[in-house]
Amino acid sequence: MKGKEDISLFSKIFIDDEKYNKSIQTFRLIQIRAITILTGILYIVYSKIDQYILPEDIMNIASNFHLYIIAPILFIISFLTYFPKYYTKMIFMLMIAPICAAIVNLILVTNIESFTTYMTEIYLIIFWVFTVSGLKLKQSSISVFFISLIAFINYYYIFPLPKELFIMHSFWVFAVLSFGFVGAFLLERLSMKNFITYKKLKDLAITDSLTGLYNRTKLDEILQNELNRSKRYNHNFAFILLDIDHFKEVNDTYGHQIGDKVLIEISNLIKNNSRSTDIIFRWGGEEFIILCLETNKENILNHAENLRRIIQLHKFKSVGSKTVSLGITLSKNDDSIPSIIKRADEALYMAKNQGRNQVVFF
Ligand code: GH3
Ligand code: MG
Ligand code: MG
Repeated sequence: MKGKEDISLFSKIFIDDEKYNKSIQTFRLIQIRAITILTGILYIVYSKIDQYILPEDIMNIASNFHLYIIAPILFIISFLTYFPKYYTKMIFMLMIAPICAAIVNLILVTNIESFTTYMTEIYLIIFWVFTVSGLKLKQSSISVFFISLIAFINYYYIFPLPKELFIMHSFWVFAVLSFGFVGAFLLERLSMKNFITYKKLKDLAITDSLTGLYNRTKLDEILQNELNRSKRYNHNFAFILLDIDHFKEVNDTYGHQIGDKVLIEISNLIKNNSRSTDIIFRWGGEEFIILCLETNKENILNHAENLRRIIQLHKFKSVGSKTVSLGITLSKNDDSIPSIIKRADEALYMAKNQGRNQVVFF
């Protein structure tokens, strides 16, 4: 079981999980914004160091590349993080920027005598991509793959290094690549695990553990959304408050556990006889709420009456027949959560008062 979980985590990291990506996008944008500004500033400093340590002929090329190409690319990426609609383009630039930096580095190395001074920049670039860039593991792996490939081609064909230097440098690149990859993998795994735990907790917080229906917390959220929507688009939804008749007798006669089973059976009956657009909640002990979107008075009365009849005809295990009373109302433009609940409650009160096992519209 544990192994299976790990495999699915692993595949989720490499195969894009839409919901996970969305959930981390905001945090990622802030991270990318901060890191690209910091790195851009460091590249400006770097360009000053270039002027200080490099020979005249190559100094201008190196310094200008760092100052006028790499640093601005990083600042543009940072700027783009303010516009979520450019997210894909921004990520693409973030993957390309380190490759550009690596190419500039290799050009430098190829053209100066004290080239070893500059060789270490590649390690830093690879580590940057994996651990702080804000790229996902898949994206950073692609970027690093090209950086390593270009470095290898350069040091093997274009600017062949002395053998011992080539072996040593390749070893360092490989080491930093593996440390960076493992670090990035662990970070991503942790973040994915957090996301899964968060989702589980969130589901728990809005689910009634006995029936699996939404609970009161979720009702408040959905009801407020629907009230806002019905105000904006000027259409109604129906609100049904369903209460089991004389439910206390079930507990008193058969015990609490049988009572629980009746609650589960009723919730299944409601679920199985509702439309896919209906949203069902357990509101409290033996009371349920059904929100029916896009409906009218006639339809909702038929629906409620149908539900009442189905429950009345159902034979509950051990208990036999049970009935329910339903209070119904339609949303109004100036409704609030308390006002719509109050109307449904009044309708339910009337249904109970008039002898139970009936539907009342208010
Ligand atoms: P009425 O027809 O007026 O609605 O009568 P009633 O007995 O259904 O209403 P009342 O409010 O007096 O009793 C509701 C009962 O529901 C009391 C409580 O013990 C029971 N109840 C509430 N939550 C649960 C639950 O989770 N499991 C079980 N088994 N019983 C519950
Ligand atoms: Mg009740
Ligand atoms: Mg009751």
